Parts: sequence; C-alpha cells; structure tokens
Amino acid sequence: MRPLQMVDTKTQYLKIKTAVDAAVIAVLESSQFIGGKVVNDFAANLAQYHGVKHVIPCANGTDALQIAMMALGLKAGDEVITPSFTYIATVEVAALLGIKPIFVEVDKKTFCIDPDIIENAITPKTKAIVPVHLYGHAANMEPIMQIAKKHNLFVIEDNAQAIGNVYAFADGTKKKLGSIGDIGCTSFYPSKNLGAYGDGGAMMTNDDALADKLKMIASHGQSKRYYHDVVGCNSRLDAIQAAILDIKLTYLDEYIAARRKAADFYDAAFAANDKISVPFRATNNNHVFHQYTLTLNGVDRDALHLYLADNGIPSMIYYPVPAHRQKMFDAFGGSEYKLETTDWLTERVISLPIHTELDEEQQQLIANKVLEFINIQF
Ligand SMILES: *Cc1c(COP(=O)(O)O)cnc(C)c1O
Repeated sequence: MRPLQMVDTKTQYLKIKTAVDAAVIAVLESSQFIGGKVVNDFAANLAQYHGVKHVIPCANGTDALQIAMMALGLKAGDEVITPSFTYIATVEVAALLGIKPIFVEVDKKTFCIDPDIIENAITPKTKAIVPVHLYGHAANMEPIMQIAKKHNLFVIEDNAQAIGNVYAFADGTKKKLGSIGDIGCTSFYPSKNLGAYGDGGAMMTNDDALADKLKMIASHGQSKRYYHDVVGCNSRLDAIQAAILDIKLTYLDEYIAARRKAADFYDAAFAANDKISVPFRATNNNHVFHQYTLTLNGVDRDALHLYLADNGIPSMIYYPVPAHRQKMFDAFGGSEYKLETTDWLTERVISLPIHTELDEEQQQLIANKVLEFINIQF
C-alpha cells in the first residue's frame, strides 16, 4: 500500500507527467517566464470555467485577498465582517491594511459564516463581508448577497478551498463559487484542489472597472508601463505555474469527483457511529471536499490524533486556534469576542486524509483505526 498522506500530489503528478513536463519545457524554451500568452490563456480558461468576465492571476491566495480589499477602496479604520473559524490569511490581510476584522460565528453544520448573525455585526464603518467557503463547502451566498445589497456592502469570497463548487440559488440559477460576490479570490497552493507546483492565486470579477483596478494594483499600481497611478504591490503568477495549472484545470472536475467519492466512502464507514458527525452537505451546493472534517462528540480529539499518528495515519486539526484567539489580533480586541460555536468546533474537529489518489484499501484502514480508537476509549 502506498504511504498514507493528507494529500498525494506526487501520484497525481505522475499521471499527467508527460503533458506537464512538456508544458514546462515549452515555457523554458520560450523564456517568457513572466506574463505572456501562457498566463493569459490560463486566465481566460479559468474565467470560462467560472463563467466570469475577468480573472486576474496573482502570486498567491493571500495576495488575492489583499489586492481585492485594496481595489474596493477599503482603508484603515474600515471594518470587514468575517468568520474567525478560518485560515489566518483571510483576516491577516485586513489587519495589514489597518482594516478591523469583525469576527462572527460560523454555522455549526457548514463550518461557514452564519448569515443570520451578520446583520448584528454591521456598523457605520462596515464596508465588506468576507465569507470563506471552508473545507470546500459553500457559505450560504444567497442570504449573504441579500444582506450586502440591503446595507450597500461589498462581498469578497475567500474561495481558496472550494474552487469548482457550484452553488444553486432559490430560483434555480447556478453559479460557481468565486463568481457570486464582487470579487472571488482563490489560491493555487500545491495542496489546494487546483494546486500548482509552487505558489499562485487569482482574483475574479464580472465588473470591468474593478478588473482594471485589480490588474493595476497587482502590478505596482501602473496604468501603463512606468506610470504608477495608485499604490500597489507586485503580485504575479509565473508562466511555469500557469502552464501547469492550465493542464490541471482540465482535470479539475474529475479531481472533484474523486474527492467526493472518497468522502462518500468515509460517510458510509462512519454513518453508524453517534460520536462522529460526518461533514454536512447542504443541498444548494456541491461540496468539493478540500478537507474531510469530522466533528467528534464525547471523544478525546487530541488523543485520537495521536493514536492515528502512532498507527502511521496522518490527520490534521484545521485550525487549532481560531483567528480571534491569535495573539496577532490582541490589538484588535480579539480576546474580547465570545464565539461559542467557533470555540466548540475548534475543540472537536479533525480532518482525515482526502485527495484524488486515495483508494478504498487506504480509506478502510483509516476508518478502521478511527473506529478502533473510539471503541477502545469506551
Ligand atoms: C490557502 C488559503 C488562503 C491563502 O492562500 P495562499 O496561496 O497560501 O496565500 C487563504 N484563505 C484560505 C481559506 C486558504 O485555505
């Protein structure tokens, strides 16, 4: 049996090696390492995949979020509403720009921002809502967009973990996540569902003027070469990564199907156990299982994590400390928040290996060890 890993990028690479190697060599031979046709083609293909007008590639998902906030004119003293139960990048970029993150609770089932309590967090300083589609499940975008419209707020989707997830509105309209808010941000970090072999990220929007701003800010605020209109930064996706991503994009739906199949297997294995809650799947979106995250009830989660490790099975806690409890946010009053659901989940979640190369033999072993621990413990 192949070694168990949280994510197996090597086996996945070997299946597309011929095409990837040729594409990388073609970039080397062209010596067009930054910008150019390969990057533009990938951006166009990603835009088409999402059904959006513009995709602006950048250096990573963190930059995408930062540039999005800058392009929308968010500035020091403004507030953005965001979950605390997320990867730090979502809120770190706000803080970096002097914007105050206002942390709200997540829904216990979806792990994503709870639309019902967003309105309570709105103040005259609020400029944007930043929902995070955590683990591959969608934040409930329809009510979020309604609240944003009512209060004249921007919506920046952090779609680093849910690329390819299709969200259905009540009227039957379907849209890919990342294409619903004013700007969608994603990451091509190697372990992400559309992973590069290095860093990468992208922003997407249907707004022409906003697309120009995103492009300009990602390129030193320049409107034309050596004419800098606004303060920007330097954030580029390189051509080698774009060439790799363009190939992998053609497999993305297949990769998602493989992840969903693996999730189905785990779901069935754990179905009968009342101490384990398997990931919830709302019917209005197509979970893409960036992570397969269990919520444990009456189980010593950290002991299970160690037990699995002792048996050669990796597992991860995403994330061991919620954003509002990070030292980084002491200055923003982080420790004053009372986020009971966020804390409750932080103590109970555990993510099992899930990726495109997992086979049933591996999954059975993982499931058996989880269940074995739970049975020993009681
Ligand atoms: C990975 C990730 C990011 C940041 O992406 P990088 O490319 O690593 O900068 C932001 N938000 C979430 C939710 C992520 O999972």
